[in-house]
Amino acid sequence: MILPVLRHLTYISSSTYLTWQKCQHKVYLTKLAGHPYLPPNVGASAIMGTCFDAIIKDYLAKKKGINNPILKLDRVFKEIKHEDKDAVIANAYVVAGQYIKHGLADKLLASQDIKLEQELYRVINGVPILGRLDAILDGLPFDWKTRGFYSKYTASPHANYAYKVSGISGEVTAPNTTPLFDLEEINPAWATQLIFYNWLVGKFSDFYFRVHEVCHQKKDIIFVEYEGTISDEFANKLFGNVKKMWEQIHDDRYNATIAEPQPSYDLCHEYNCQCEAAVYCKSYERWLERSSKDELELA
Ligand code: SF4
Repeated sequence: MILPVLRHLTYISSSTYLTWQKCQHKVYLTKLAGHPYLPPNVGASAIMGTCFDAIIKDYLAKKKGINNPILKLDRVFKEIKHEDKDAVIANAYVVAGQYIKHGLADKLLASQDIKLEQELYRVINGVPILGRLDAILDGLPFDWKTRGFYSKYTASPHANYAYKVSGISGEVTAPNTTPLFDLEEINPAWATQLIFYNWLVGKFSDFYFRVHEVCHQKKDIIFVEYEGTISDEFANKLFGNVKKMWEQIHDDRYNATIAEPQPSYDLCHEYNCQCEAAVYCKSYERWLERSSKDELELA
């Protein structure tokens, strides 16, 4: 579809790119169509991730004497809009306390240079890229992930962890040798985000990642460290796609080329939250009319 561009995208972030991969029309409706800003509908699981990150960053900042107004906890919490906000924040404090108690934060404090919540911008072969990195440790990108909170599904760590500790028993499991592996093999979305971050810190080969993941299980919280590489092949293909996205949006001054949306329950209700662009999405409206009540309830 050729659609008029009334507001311009001034850069591509990893999250906008990942949204584009799922539904180009959503990027169009939220960023290019001229509608008022549509705040994303986020569930308790996403808020848990935000709060956990913020508490740990606050802890690291205090330990390292970093003074950054973006890290102030009252500011972060004030911006959260959710009916269960207070309960989620309280839960995040409990989980963050376990993370610190089991020495995961100390692993990060071993870095000489720590930058937190750092926004970076770079133009690569004509494509402007922007990202806000959770942390940069000695010049390399680091990210926290949380999974399984406020979900009916329990989260299990990927097999290739470098270090794992149970929040309840404190049992540590670490393979004999650090398993270096290509991140795209276990999680292409994480690999995409971490390649953006590598580009932003100025790494264009020997792509590296380090991630701490918090997995919520029925009776335990598991803290996991992953460390490894991302292949040049994956990064090159990714850049080709990012460039193509930029061209589809910018090559024609007044119009963008947007793929037809393909609404489905999973696409339009990710993490059980309705897509914020659904209010303007005619395809979604038609899909909803076609879908029977039973189908929607089953989903
Ligand atoms: S409602 Fe569904 S099809 Fe429409 S923009 Fe959102 S994700 Fe895409």
